[in-house]
Amino acid sequence: MSLRSEATPSSIGPGQDGTTLVIEWADGHVTELTPWSLRLACPCAGCVDEMTGRKILRPDDVDEGVYPLEISYVGRYALRFDWSDGHGTGIYPFEYLRRLCPCMLCASRAS
Ligand SMILES: [Zn+2]
Ligand SMILES: [Zn+2]
Repeated sequence: MSLRSEATPSSIGPGQDGTTLVIEWADGHVTELTPWSLRLACPCAGCVDEMTGRKILRPDDVDEGVYPLEISYVGRYALRFDWSDGHGTGIYPFEYLRRLCPCMLCASRAS
């Protein structure tokens, strides 16, 4: 596996206005997300039903002001977020994160 894969973040941090998280990818692509949408997309067994893939977590369950206290790498394939609401079991594979990118370019690719 190559670390230079396009689905590898080269940096992650807060956006300029402080309300978003910005992920820069090895291929130069930039993903800007709200921490809220990222928290809502948590793929752990507590937030998504493992058997059906259905989301258990609902938008109302997540505080709009949620933010990551800590972001850590899991091996070479994923990131783990420790959220301000105490949740921290979600492991977000890079490719999953990339698919969450809400930009026009990625949205048009996904369809
Ligand atoms: Zn979760
Ligand atoms: Zn994108």
